[in-house]
Order: sequence, then structure tokens, then C-alpha cells
Amino acid sequence: MNCSIETKWLDASVTALKGIAKKRAGLLRKMGIDTVRDLLLHLPLRYEDRSVVRPIMETVEGEECTIIATIASNPAHSRPRKNLSLWRLSVSDGSGHMIVVLFNQDFAVKNVQVGDRFLFFGTVKRQGVRIEMANPVFDKIKEDDSKPARVVPIYGLTAGLSQNQLRTHIQDAMKKALGGPDLLPDAFLNTHGLMLWDNAMQMVHFPEQLDKSIETARKRLAFDELLELEIGIQVQRRDHMKKIGPPMGRQDLGDVLQSLPFSLMAAQSRVLDEMLSDMEKPLAMNRLLQGDVGSGKTVVAFLAAVSAIRAGYQTVLMVPTEILAEQHLTSAKRMLEPFNIRVSLLKGNMKKRERDRLLQQLVEGGPDLVIGTHALLTEDVVFHKLGLVITDEQHRFGVRQRAALAGKGTSPHVLVMTATPIPRTLSLLVYGDLDISVLDGLPPGRKPIRTYIVKEAMRSRIEAFIRKTVQERQQVYVVCPLVAESEEMQAQSAEEMAERLQHHVFPDLCVGLIHGKMKTADKEDAMAAFLAGRIDVLVATTVIEVGVNVPNATVMVIENAERFGLSQLHQLRGRVGRGGEQSHCILFQNGGGKVANERLKAIEESTDGFLLAETDLKLRGPGEMFGTQQHGLPECHIANLYEDLELLQLAKDYATYLASQNAQNTMEVIPASTQEEMLYDYLLQRFSARLRPLIMN
Ligand code: ADP
Ligand code: MG
Repeated sequence: MNCSIETKWLDASVTALKGIAKKRAGLLRKMGIDTVRDLLLHLPLRYEDRSVVRPIMETVEGEECTIIATIASNPAHSRPRKNLSLWRLSVSDGSGHMIVVLFNQDFAVKNVQVGDRFLFFGTVKRQGVRIEMANPVFDKIKEDDSKPARVVPIYGLTAGLSQNQLRTHIQDAMKKALGGPDLLPDAFLNTHGLMLWDNAMQMVHFPEQLDKSIETARKRLAFDELLELEIGIQVQRRDHMKKIGPPMGRQDLGDVLQSLPFSLMAAQSRVLDEMLSDMEKPLAMNRLLQGDVGSGKTVVAFLAAVSAIRAGYQTVLMVPTEILAEQHLTSAKRMLEPFNIRVSLLKGNMKKRERDRLLQQLVEGGPDLVIGTHALLTEDVVFHKLGLVITDEQHRFGVRQRAALAGKGTSPHVLVMTATPIPRTLSLLVYGDLDISVLDGLPPGRKPIRTYIVKEAMRSRIEAFIRKTVQERQQVYVVCPLVAESEEMQAQSAEEMAERLQHHVFPDLCVGLIHGKMKTADKEDAMAAFLAGRIDVLVATTVIEVGVNVPNATVMVIENAERFGLSQLHQLRGRVGRGGEQSHCILFQNGGGKVANERLKAIEESTDGFLLAETDLKLRGPGEMFGTQQHGLPECHIANLYEDLELLQLAKDYATYLASQNAQNTMEVIPASTQEEMLYDYLLQRFSARLRPLIMN
């Protein structure tokens, strides 16, 4: 077996290819393509089937097809309007004649000469005896081209680059870079039905026909991507195992626990214990706390903070929105100040003097617990002795941001919290470098939220229900429709809604407003007033989606619910049902297709975040990718973490196997096959070069 892993060409810069100089390389760079490998992994978005060739006489009106024909006479030009240059080509293929009409393509027509053979791909128009094709794709057929009509890949492009150019570069790259031995052993590929890499490349870029083999090819490429990811996770885990965390001992938290208005649920005690034992150990904690909305994560996090603080360390808590930061500040002060713990808030828009003073105090070790948003990440935020780093609603942050926060201490303990409903199977596979604690169950006395889908015709009844709710001294959220185009427009629609409700529907009630475009101080005021019960009905945008906790709010009305995603609806609904009263969630549906119907039905029928996550997964169409931003998941280009779950599991198993072979090998116990050893080394090396900067600080 040839064991050398030939990557010379794959790792070469694209400029090593014919016809790629500085300018072209710059365009490719814009698409994230630097190396020949990147180029090859730039897979087609879709394909155009130009393989069906029709004789001209057999074409059918309206059909999209390929015609191979010879230019019969010189192109005829006319200019019916000032901006319209019209060319007519008369072509024939032995079966008949066709007119090809081209608009504003003077440049392309220059290459057309009588007697040339061309391929035309477009839609046929037949009127009586006239057969026409307007603005088809057309390519001159090279003399040595034995099969000009084929399936053609269509790639994502950038301005200044054409399909033909990119296709040529990819063809060239394949000629140069393919032909080496496969990274993966034959036996492994055969067992798992994976294609050879070279074949997969050929198949995915230039398939013979549109069939299932393209998907089989994609799977092989996705597997390699996932294997790299899983090896990366292993490395991170291994590196982390070496990090000496701040030693904290076991602090007594009895007094704080005593002071709480409730006793911890069994699940909370268990999770807290998991964290405290981590923090006692000499290794830095690296833990993910997963718990559905309203499951009571905050108090557990605060208790862990108390432990760190009593051991002599500072704690920082990062949250995605200022509203949430304010809210955490209030509850942290209430819970912790009686125990002489100093809590501070670092906001994005603080006055310079105020901010400077706080930063000074931080370095000197003044505040014990600092709560804040992204504003915590700037370089001038320096701690005296940071021992515990907590990120709330971590799915709102990128991996890099979390790492940046942890970088503010010397290997502090790390806790990330999330209510993002990622199916458990998936979270184990992609958070493999984290220990996971799960907070299952909700605090006692909660009544399950009742959810109803309603139509416009029900509006007056719903308004009466809102009034009744307020009369019973409870509060209501009205969530405005999602406006994808801009936050500006969303803010505007929220303002209009608040106007209407205040002046025309509930003149006797107090209607409040909160949206993302308001000044921070105004947002704080609105939230404080709602929490204090001075606002009856709060009109809001999705700014209240994460974390907001007002237990007295028992009704949530969501306008145009069909526009929201399933997990977003679940998060929003989680803002009610936080106290002992029966809560209701009312979803106004105003259209939406089949998928929207199913989504709303799912949310009506279940309140289990994990079940909804699974449903969400099934309802999502293929190609709906999951960016790093939104889910805190690593970004994959070829694999879809949700859809390729089995492949991900296989990648994990194989990565584990390779790592174990490798570890044993260094201890010279069992000689692993040389190919496996080299593969592992190679993947490690690739991981360090490419992936690591994305994941680590
Ligand atoms: P989430 O997990 O969504 O962040 P929170 O931490 O905001 O949830 O908790 C939701 C509500 O549950 C809060 O009002 C909190 O005070 C309350 N809570 C937390 N733990 C308990 C408990 N053990 N018993 C009763 N209420 C609790
Ligand atoms: Mg929370």
C-alpha cells in the first residue's frame, strides 16, 4: 500500500493553477477560496441537465433542452431600440432549422462563424413552422469534445467571475490534484459505503447524470469534513485536560441556600454539585449546562459564582442582551448583596468616566461578580483574579466570543448555559469537548402553558381575554410580527401596534413598548416598569426572546406567528408560565404554507423543548444551513450537522479509534497500521492549521 499522503497540490495556492494570477486569486479569496483544496471543496449549488439533446424538428413548445447545431448563415444584427442590440442566428442540425435570438450579446457573437458547431441550451418556442430559442446558454463545441451535452454544475460566484471560468479552474485543479492515494483505508470505505475521494470529486463536480450518486459523493466529502471536526474536538478536549484551573476547594453555600425563597429542585442540586466538584479539581471546568426555558439555570449559576467568590476569585457573566444583563443584575443584587458580594454591570453605552472607574475597580479586584454584554469582550476589560466565566444563552454567541471571554483569566473555570433546543444526540457530538449537565424538569407548581392557534376573526375575543387577564392583576406580552428586512421596520410596526392598542383598544390600561431600536435607558425603563407591574400590556419585538423573566406575565400574544421559527416560538413562549398562575400563549396565524401550519401545530401540542427541536429538524427543508452565529455550532460547508447525524456519529467513532490507535502507538504497545497513523497526524495537522484559529482563542 502506498502510504504517503500526497497533498502537495491540494495545499498549494490557487495561483499555482493555469490562468489564476493576482486579480483572479483576489476574486476567489472573496469566496473563501485560497488553496486548490478550497477550490475543489467549493461544490456546485445545483446542476443544469444539458444532457438531453433534441433534434430541432422533435422539440416541443416550452421545453428546456439542448440542441447541437451548425451556424447556417452570418448573424443578422438589428437595433429595435436604443438600448437593445438584437442578433439572430440561423442554425440547423440536419433535422431542421432554428432561429437563436440574442439580446445585447455583441461580445459573444464575435466568435460565431458560419459552419461552427454550437451547443444551445434553453427554452424552445414553436409557432407554426417557426422554431426559436431566446438567449440560450451557448458554447462552441471543441473538435475533440466527444460528449458536449452533459450535466453542468452551477456554482456560487462573485461579481467578475463567470461560471465558465470557475468551471475551467476546477477542471484544471482536478487534473492536477487527483490521482493520489485516498486518505481513508479501503476497508473502512467499503464497510461504510463511502466513495473514494477522487471519485466523489469527479461525481460531485461533473456528474454523468443527475442521480443518487451525487448525494453519495457529497456524503464522502461531508464525512471528511466531519472527521476533521471530531479530531479537532478530541484535540481540544485533550488540551483542556492539561489546563490547571484555579483551585477553589469546597465552599459552604448553606447560608445562601437558606436565604432563597424556594428550595432547589433535585435536578438543580445535582447540576450544582457537578459544577462544584469540577471547580474543586485541579483541572479547569469546561461545562455546558443545558436546560429548557424556565428550568431555573440562573440560580444555579449564581450559586457557582458564590463558590468561586468565596474561594477568592472574580466571576464574570456574559449575556446576549442588555435587558437580560439588567435583569440578572437585579436578581444577583437581591440574592448576593446580603452576603457582602459586590455585583457590577458593564454596559455598552456607559459614560466614559463611569466606565473608566469600573475598569479601574475591576483590575483592583473590587467587584466580585461582573455582568455584561459583548461590551465585556473589549481589550481594556481586565480582571484582578478571574476564576469563573459564565456565558448565558450561549447559542447567541460565536465560539470565538466565548473563547475571548475565557482568555481574560488564566485558564478560569468555564460554564456555558443554553436553552437552545439542540437534539441531545447532536449536542453530544458537537460539544464533545464539553462536559454536559442537563437540568431536566421545571420548578414545582408550574402549570403547563396552554397554547392556541387563532385566526383574525377571533381578535375581539382575544382582546377581551387580555382585558380580563389585566383585571385579574396579571400582565400580557404582545409580540409583533417578525420583519426580516430590517430591525427598523420591526420597530416601526411595534410602535404602531402600541399606538393602536393604547388609543383604540385599551385606553383605560397602560400599554408599554419595547424594541431593539430604543435607547438603552428607555428599554431599561420599560422593562423595569413591566416588572414592577406599572405596565399592563407590553408590546415587544423579539428583543424579549431570550431570558426575560417576569413571573407575573401570564399571557403572550404572538402576531403573525407563522413567520417565526419553531425554536424561536418556543423561546418566546418561555417568557410566560414562570409563576404559579395558569399561562396562555395565543398565536395569531395569518397565512403561511404547509410547513408553517405544521410548525404551529407542533408548538400548540408540545412544550417540551427537546421534542420541538426534533420536530424542527424534520420540518426544515434541506439546504437550510445552520450558521455559527445562530446556534453556536461549528460551521460546516458540506455537511449539514442536523441531517448528517449518522455520518457525524461515524466520524466521531472513527476519530476516537484513530486517537486511541495513535496513543497506543506512541507507547509502543500495538503497532497501528502506518496509514492510520499518518492519517491521524495529517488530520491533526490540518486541524491545527485551519480549524483551530476558529475555535480557540
Ligand atoms: P432559565 O433556565 O430559563 O434561565 P430562570 O433561571 O430564569 O430560567 O428561572 C425561571 C424562574 O424559576 C425564576 O423566576 C426563578 O426564580 C424560578 N425558580 C428557579 N428555581 C426554582 C425552584 N427551585 N423553585 C421555584 N422556583 C424556581
Ligand atoms: Mg435564563
